Amino acid sequence: MVQDQIIARGICDQRVIDAMMKIPRHIFVQEAFAVQAYSDKALPIGEKQTISQPYIVALMTEKLALTGTERVLEIGTGSGYQTALLATLADRIYSAERIRLLALRARRCLDSLKLFNVQLRINDVAGSPIGWEEAAPFDAIIVTAGAPEVPAILTDQLARGGRLVIPVGTDTSQQLLTIIKNEDGELQRELSVECRFVPLIGRQGWQA
Ligand code: SAH
Repeated sequence: MVQDQIIARGICDQRVIDAMMKIPRHIFVQEAFAVQAYSDKALPIGEKQTISQPYIVALMTEKLALTGTERVLEIGTGSGYQTALLATLADRIYSAERIRLLALRARRCLDSLKLFNVQLRINDVAGSPIGWEEAAPFDAIIVTAGAPEVPAILTDQLARGGRLVIPVGTDTSQQLLTIIKNEDGELQRELSVECRFVPLIGRQGWQA
Protein backbone atom coordinates (compact mmCIF):
# COMPACT_ATOMS: atom_id res chain seq x y z
CA MET A 1 0.00 0.00 0.00
CA VAL A 2 2.62 2.54 1.04
CA GLN A 3 4.89 1.93 -1.96
CA ASP A 4 2.21 1.83 -4.68
CA GLN A 5 -0.40 4.26 -3.39
CA ILE A 6 1.55 6.70 -1.25
CA ILE A 7 5.18 7.02 -2.39
CA ALA A 8 4.45 6.40 -6.10
CA ARG A 9 1.88 9.24 -6.06
CA GLY A 10 4.29 11.78 -4.67
CA ILE A 11 3.98 11.77 -0.87
CA CYS A 12 7.52 12.49 0.28
CA ASP A 13 7.34 13.46 3.98
CA GLN A 14 9.36 10.59 5.45
CA ARG A 15 7.65 10.90 8.85
CA VAL A 16 4.24 10.41 7.18
CA ILE A 17 5.54 7.43 5.20
CA ASP A 18 7.03 5.83 8.33
CA ALA A 19 3.81 6.37 10.29
CA MET A 20 1.77 4.73 7.53
CA MET A 21 4.10 1.73 7.56
CA LYS A 22 3.69 1.44 11.31
CA ILE A 23 -0.08 1.85 11.90
CA PRO A 24 -2.08 -1.28 10.94
CA ARG A 25 -5.12 -0.18 8.90
CA HIS A 26 -7.04 -3.47 9.14
CA ILE A 27 -7.88 -3.03 12.82
CA PHE A 28 -9.83 0.15 11.97
CA VAL A 29 -12.19 -1.44 9.43
CA GLN A 30 -15.08 -3.80 10.08
CA GLU A 31 -14.24 -7.49 9.95
CA ALA A 32 -16.13 -8.01 6.68
CA PHE A 33 -13.84 -5.47 4.96
CA ALA A 34 -10.57 -6.49 6.62
CA VAL A 35 -9.27 -8.16 3.45
CA GLN A 36 -9.73 -4.85 1.60
CA ALA A 37 -8.18 -2.72 4.35
CA TYR A 38 -5.05 -1.91 2.31
CA SER A 39 -6.80 -1.40 -1.04
CA ASP A 40 -6.87 1.91 -2.90
CA LYS A 41 -10.29 3.15 -1.78
CA ALA A 42 -12.51 4.42 0.99
CA LEU A 43 -14.44 1.71 2.88
CA PRO A 44 -17.64 1.72 4.94
CA ILE A 45 -17.17 1.81 8.73
CA GLY A 46 -20.88 1.60 9.65
CA GLU A 47 -23.36 4.37 10.51
CA LYS A 48 -23.21 5.50 6.83
CA GLN A 49 -19.63 6.78 7.32
CA THR A 50 -16.36 5.82 5.64
CA ILE A 51 -12.66 5.44 6.38
CA SER A 52 -10.84 7.60 3.81
CA GLN A 53 -8.72 6.23 0.97
CA PRO A 54 -5.09 5.73 2.16
CA TYR A 55 -3.69 8.26 -0.35
CA ILE A 56 -6.07 11.01 0.79
CA VAL A 57 -5.18 10.29 4.44
CA ALA A 58 -1.47 10.60 3.57
CA LEU A 59 -1.97 13.76 1.51
CA MET A 60 -4.00 15.54 4.19
CA THR A 61 -1.48 14.52 6.84
CA GLU A 62 1.45 15.72 4.74
CA LYS A 63 -0.26 19.09 4.23
CA LEU A 64 -0.34 19.61 8.01
CA ALA A 65 3.52 19.60 7.97
CA LEU A 66 3.76 18.09 11.46
CA THR A 67 7.14 17.94 13.20
CA GLY A 68 6.20 16.18 16.45
CA THR A 69 5.55 19.11 18.80
CA GLU A 70 2.09 20.17 17.66
CA ARG A 71 -1.30 20.21 19.32
CA VAL A 72 -3.74 19.01 16.68
CA LEU A 73 -7.53 19.19 16.39
CA GLU A 74 -9.31 16.60 14.24
CA ILE A 75 -13.00 16.94 13.36
CA GLY A 76 -14.48 13.55 12.39
CA THR A 77 -12.69 10.75 14.26
CA GLY A 78 -14.60 8.10 12.31
CA SER A 79 -12.65 4.85 12.48
CA GLY A 80 -9.73 6.52 14.29
CA TYR A 81 -7.19 5.56 11.59
CA GLN A 82 -6.29 9.16 10.71
CA THR A 83 -6.25 9.91 14.46
CA ALA A 84 -3.70 7.13 15.03
CA LEU A 85 -1.40 8.61 12.39
CA LEU A 86 -1.72 12.07 13.93
CA ALA A 87 -0.97 10.61 17.38
CA THR A 88 2.24 9.13 16.00
CA LEU A 89 3.27 12.38 14.28
CA ALA A 90 2.36 15.12 16.78
CA ASP A 91 2.35 15.76 20.52
CA ARG A 92 -1.33 15.94 21.52
CA ILE A 93 -4.46 15.15 19.56
CA TYR A 94 -7.98 16.41 20.25
CA SER A 95 -10.46 14.54 18.09
CA ALA A 96 -14.23 15.12 17.91
CA GLU A 97 -16.83 12.71 16.50
CA ARG A 98 -20.61 13.11 16.40
CA ILE A 99 -21.49 9.39 16.31
CA ARG A 100 -20.99 7.81 19.72
CA LEU A 101 -20.59 4.23 18.47
CA LEU A 102 -17.76 5.22 16.11
CA ALA A 103 -15.98 7.22 18.81
CA LEU A 104 -16.15 4.27 21.23
CA ARG A 105 -14.79 1.87 18.59
CA ALA A 106 -12.01 4.32 17.71
CA ARG A 107 -11.06 4.61 21.39
CA ARG A 108 -10.65 0.83 21.63
CA CYS A 109 -8.41 0.75 18.54
CA LEU A 110 -6.25 3.64 19.74
CA ASP A 111 -5.89 2.04 23.18
CA SER A 112 -4.88 -1.27 21.60
CA LEU A 113 -2.04 0.59 19.85
CA LYS A 114 -1.14 2.33 23.14
CA LEU A 115 -1.72 5.77 21.64
CA PHE A 116 -2.58 7.57 24.84
CA ASN A 117 -1.95 11.14 23.63
CA VAL A 118 -5.45 11.39 22.11
CA GLN A 119 -8.42 13.04 23.74
CA LEU A 120 -11.74 12.09 22.13
CA ARG A 121 -14.96 14.07 22.41
CA ILE A 122 -18.42 12.92 21.39
CA ASN A 123 -20.32 15.85 19.84
CA ASP A 124 -23.71 14.24 19.39
CA VAL A 125 -25.90 17.11 20.50
CA ALA A 126 -27.65 18.65 17.47
CA GLY A 127 -26.38 22.15 16.80
CA SER A 128 -23.27 21.84 18.98
CA PRO A 129 -20.49 24.01 17.55
CA ILE A 130 -17.68 22.49 15.54
CA GLY A 131 -14.29 22.88 17.20
CA TRP A 132 -12.89 22.63 20.72
CA GLU A 133 -12.74 26.09 22.20
CA GLU A 134 -11.31 25.19 25.65
CA ALA A 135 -8.23 23.56 24.11
CA ALA A 136 -7.62 26.18 21.37
CA PRO A 137 -5.46 27.46 19.77
CA PHE A 138 -4.19 24.49 17.72
CA ASP A 139 -1.05 24.29 15.60
CA ALA A 140 -2.91 22.14 13.09
CA ILE A 141 -6.58 21.37 12.38
CA ILE A 142 -7.82 18.61 10.09
CA VAL A 143 -11.44 18.15 9.07
CA THR A 144 -12.18 14.72 7.63
CA ALA A 145 -15.72 15.50 6.44
CA GLY A 146 -16.80 17.75 3.56
CA ALA A 147 -17.88 21.31 4.43
CA PRO A 148 -19.88 23.85 2.37
CA GLU A 149 -17.33 26.52 3.33
CA VAL A 150 -14.41 27.02 5.70
CA PRO A 151 -15.96 27.43 9.18
CA ALA A 152 -14.69 30.69 10.75
CA ILE A 153 -14.96 28.99 14.14
CA LEU A 154 -12.05 26.77 13.06
CA THR A 155 -9.79 29.46 11.60
CA ASP A 156 -10.37 31.35 14.88
CA GLN A 157 -9.06 28.31 16.79
CA LEU A 158 -5.92 28.06 14.63
CA ALA A 159 -2.64 29.35 16.11
CA ARG A 160 -0.48 31.81 14.16
CA GLY A 161 1.75 29.79 11.87
CA GLY A 162 -0.82 26.97 11.99
CA ARG A 163 -2.46 24.99 9.18
CA LEU A 164 -6.02 23.88 8.59
CA VAL A 165 -6.75 21.14 6.05
CA ILE A 166 -10.39 20.77 5.00
CA PRO A 167 -12.39 19.45 2.03
CA VAL A 168 -14.75 22.20 0.81
CA GLY A 169 -17.47 21.98 -1.85
CA THR A 170 -20.88 20.39 -2.36
CA ASP A 171 -22.20 17.40 -0.43
CA THR A 172 -20.99 15.04 -3.18
CA SER A 173 -17.69 16.56 -4.35
CA GLN A 174 -15.10 18.77 -2.70
CA GLN A 175 -11.67 20.25 -3.21
CA LEU A 176 -8.99 19.84 -0.59
CA LEU A 177 -8.04 23.23 0.88
CA THR A 178 -5.07 24.11 3.07
CA ILE A 179 -5.43 27.36 5.02
CA ILE A 180 -2.25 28.77 6.53
CA LYS A 181 -2.48 31.45 9.23
CA ASN A 182 0.66 33.55 9.03
CA GLU A 183 2.40 35.24 11.95
CA ASP A 184 0.28 38.40 11.38
CA GLY A 185 -2.91 36.36 11.61
CA GLU A 186 -3.67 36.60 7.88
CA LEU A 187 -5.07 33.56 6.10
CA GLN A 188 -3.59 32.13 2.90
CA ARG A 189 -5.38 29.43 0.89
CA GLU A 190 -3.90 26.65 -1.20
CA LEU A 191 -6.07 24.40 -3.34
CA SER A 192 -5.26 20.79 -4.09
CA VAL A 193 -7.02 17.64 -5.34
CA GLU A 194 -10.70 16.87 -5.88
CA CYS A 195 -12.04 14.50 -3.26
CA ARG A 196 -15.25 13.03 -1.95
CA PHE A 197 -16.01 12.98 1.76
CA VAL A 198 -19.13 12.29 3.80
CA PRO A 199 -20.75 15.57 4.90
CA LEU A 200 -19.68 17.63 7.89
CA ILE A 201 -22.86 17.92 9.94
CA GLY A 202 -23.73 20.87 12.12
CA ARG A 203 -24.27 24.56 12.38
CA GLN A 204 -21.19 25.34 10.25
CA GLY A 205 -21.72 22.34 7.97
CA TRP A 206 -24.68 20.50 6.39
CA GLN A 207 -27.97 19.59 8.01
CA ALA A 208 -28.22 16.00 9.31
N1 SAH B 1 -10.88 10.20 9.40
C1 SAH B 1 -11.98 9.29 9.43
C2 SAH B 1 -13.06 9.77 8.50
C3 SAH B 1 -14.41 9.38 8.94
S1 SAH B 1 -15.71 9.99 7.95
C4 SAH B 1 -11.51 7.92 8.99
O1 SAH B 1 -10.65 7.83 8.11
O2 SAH B 1 -12.04 6.94 9.50
C5 SAH B 1 -16.05 11.55 8.70
C6 SAH B 1 -16.57 11.50 10.12
O3 SAH B 1 -16.94 12.83 10.47
C7 SAH B 1 -17.79 10.65 10.33
O4 SAH B 1 -17.52 9.67 11.28
C8 SAH B 1 -18.86 11.64 10.82
O5 SAH B 1 -19.72 11.10 11.80
C9 SAH B 1 -18.00 12.75 11.39
N2 SAH B 1 -18.62 14.07 11.51
C10 SAH B 1 -19.43 14.72 10.62
N3 SAH B 1 -19.77 15.93 11.11
C11 SAH B 1 -19.15 16.07 12.32
C12 SAH B 1 -19.11 17.11 13.31
N4 SAH B 1 -19.75 18.25 13.16
N5 SAH B 1 -18.36 16.90 14.43
C13 SAH B 1 -17.69 15.74 14.60
N6 SAH B 1 -17.69 14.72 13.70
C14 SAH B 1 -18.41 14.88 12.58
